[in-house]
This record gives sequence, C-alpha cells and structure tokens, in this order.
Amino acid sequence: MSGPDVNLILRSTRVVTPEGTRPAAVAVAGGTIDAVLPYDTRVPAGARLEGFGDDVLLPGLVDTHVHVNDPGRTAWEGFWTATRAAAAGGITTLLDMPLNSLPPTTTVEHLRVKQGVAAPKAHVDTGFWGGAIPSNVKDLRPLYEAGVFGFKCFLSPSGVEEFPELDQEQLARSMAEIAGFGGLLIVHAEDPHHLAEAPQRPGPAYADFLASRPRDAENTAIEGLIAHAKRLNARVHVLHLSSSDALPLIAAAKREGVRVTVESCPHFLTLTAEEVPDGATEFKCCPPIREAANQDALWAGLADGTIDCIVSDHSPCTTDLKTPDFASAWGGISSLQLGLPAIWTEARRRGHSLDDVARWMSAAPAALAGLTRKGAIEAGRDADFAVLAPEATFTVDPAELFHRNQVTAYAGKTLHGVVRSSWLRGVRIAADGELAEPTGRLLERDR
Ligand SMILES: [Zn+2]
Repeated sequence: MSGPDVNLILRSTRVVTPEGTRPAAVAVAGGTIDAVLPYDTRVPAGARLEGFGDDVLLPGLVDTHVHVNDPGRTAWEGFWTATRAAAAGGITTLLDMPLNSLPPTTTVEHLRVKQGVAAPKAHVDTGFWGGAIPSNVKDLRPLYEAGVFGFKCFLSPSGVEEFPELDQEQLARSMAEIAGFGGLLIVHAEDPHHLAEAPQRPGPAYADFLASRPRDAENTAIEGLIAHAKRLNARVHVLHLSSSDALPLIAAAKREGVRVTVESCPHFLTLTAEEVPDGATEFKCCPPIREAANQDALWAGLADGTIDCIVSDHSPCTTDLKTPDFASAWGGISSLQLGLPAIWTEARRRGHSLDDVARWMSAAPAALAGLTRKGAIEAGRDADFAVLAPEATFTVDPAELFHRNQVTAYAGKTLHGVVRSSWLRGVRIAADGELAEPTGRLLERDR
C-alpha cells in the first residue's frame, strides 16, 4: 500500500454513505477517507479510535450559497465569524457569493483581494463564485481560469450599486461567453418588469411585502432563463427557488435535457408566510418566504428530484438595517449554523431520512460546484464529517450563534438534531460549541 498510513478510525452505528446508512468504521489516512470498513474492524496500530455510539456520522455539509461580505461590509459578516458558524453547524465547505463585499468578485484582482482576506480566517474550506455584471464580460474567462466555481448574476436590482443586474441581452451575452468555456451561470431569477408592476405598499405587514414579490416574477425569469440555456446549450442554476409554480417548467426542461439545476433554502422549506409576525423583518428575503401550500409543493419537488439541493443563502446585515418596515429593511436571512437542524426537523416530520438530507445538503451541492473530493463518505474523498444527534432537541438562542449579528428568523424555535462535532480533513474543528483554530483551505475549481 502506498500513501500515508491510517491514523484515525471514526466509528458509529449510523454512518451515512452513498449506499445508505449502516454501522461502519471510517478509516482516515492523511486527511482523506481511506476506506469504509465493517463496524468491528480492528483498529490498526498507531491509529486513534473516535467512537460516536449511535450519533450519526454524516458527510460534512457543503453550502454553496453564503454571503460573507468580507472585505468591505464586515460589520455585516466576515470570514472569521461566518466560517465559525458554518463549522459549528456541520458545514465543512462553503462557497462565498460575489456580492456585498467590497470589492465584489468581478475581476481576478478582486478575487485575489478576497482570497487574501479569507485565508487566515477560514475555519472551513472556502471557495468563491465570480460575478457576472454588465461591464465584465471580458473578465469572466480569466476569473474562471483563476479558480472561481462559476458566475452569479441578477436579473433584477441586487440591492447594492456595485453589482448591477443583467438585462436580457446582457444575460444572453454573458451566458454565451460562460458556456463557451464550459462554465456555470447561477442566477437570482426574479423578473424586474413583474416586480415593477407589483403593488408596493410599505409598512410592517408581511402580506404587503409578499404581494410586492409575486410568484410570476420568479416564474417568468426562470422561463426565460431556461429558454436561453436551451438555445445556447448552457449550464445554468436557479438560486433560492421559492415559487413552487415554477417546478413544472423546470421538470419539463430537465426531461428535455436542458442543463438546469435548482436549489432551495431552509427558510422556504421550514418557515411560512402565515407565521411571520408584523414588522418581523428578520424573515425578509428575496424572493420571499411564501405560503404553507407553496412549501408543501417545494418538498414534493425535492422528493421527485426537480429541486437538486438545499443551501443556506445566509445573508446577514447589522441589526439597525432590519427596520420594522418590510419595504426598506435589508433583505436576507441568517441561518448558517441552523440549516441542518432546521431541515432535519422538517424532513423527519415529512418522512424523509438523513440519507435524503445528506444528498440535498452535501452530495448535490458538491456536485453542483464540481467539488469531487467533497460530499460523500467514501474512499478517496476528504475526511469531512458532521456528527449529529438526530433525536436530541434544542431551542434556538441567538446568543449561542457564531455569525456576527445575532439576528435570525429561527429564534425561539425548538429543532431536532444537535451537531456534536465537525471534522475537516480528519481534524476536529468544532465540538459542543467550542471551535478550534482555523485550518480551512482556500478551494479553487478542479482543473
Ligand atoms: Zn444570496
């Protein structure tokens, strides 16, 4: 045998592998999974045994949608705080969105600035999406060659002036450019014309906010996106799907062979419009959290594979920007540390297993980003794990969260699933709310 010797055995009666959950001993050598062995395998000389009993060993979660905002808007969030929250929540790989930081990740020079800031602070492995804005078509290929995982664009205003949206012509041009080098375009899909026509009634009532971000805005944007992708044979990904009305057209496009993938988020899958109190703008995000019946349909979309993955869209801000007026409050929900228990709580109620959760929150997002060393407990992958006590419950206390501004739509909720520890390349990075020193690496797209 070549390579490093097995130095660690992780043992649990419930190890979640791509072939299902079973008792197993996971042998780790040099930070890589060497083999998944029978539970009672003898521990090799010189190796350490970590036994987790009946706690579940999951592949470390991969969160491909995080707004870290660092550098530039570090009062909102930062790599130190965000990656600690991730580690505490069982996430071992995070991809940072290209906007809300200053500079945004729209040129290679900007990417290098962000990498420099992130490197000493990263508690989990961290990579970057590039941004596609009207002025940077020439920067897309160099960014891709510099290691970004793909490109994010908006079709309606992003909320920050340094990251303008693309109109339909600009969308087609950027998509063609990206398809030309085999890249991935990920899209905030809300149509600006439908948003402009929607009734705008400022104030604390959630119903008024919901009416201002209608399902039609999403449906129309997604329909157009699919048409472009089909014509250009481009690979596209729909970010944070909220409108379940778009599911049939996405399913039809997939059946036709259009290269479209879709994500949804814990807030759309676990919170409902009906429960949002007036003025509670910690629940504000765009597209918005919709009605309970919409949520049921999203779960059906997950079950039948129309929705590929679940990622956080963690998008924090300072507390003063969460004014009680839904029209002017900053949009974004902070959930990095809570995504796994939030989703597990709802998934178990709906009869899904932790195998499903691992597929949606680890394997599928890893596949989306082409992270071939992440996303599964199998030989050859990085030894990244989350250890979960799935039957244990806890009540969310914002003071116990590690992200910078302790605002969250989940405050006071009782959730199933306590993350006992997280492991990154064979090293324990978080255990019972204690964080190790940062050992995360910067990731670049596989080339
Ligand atoms: Zn986002």
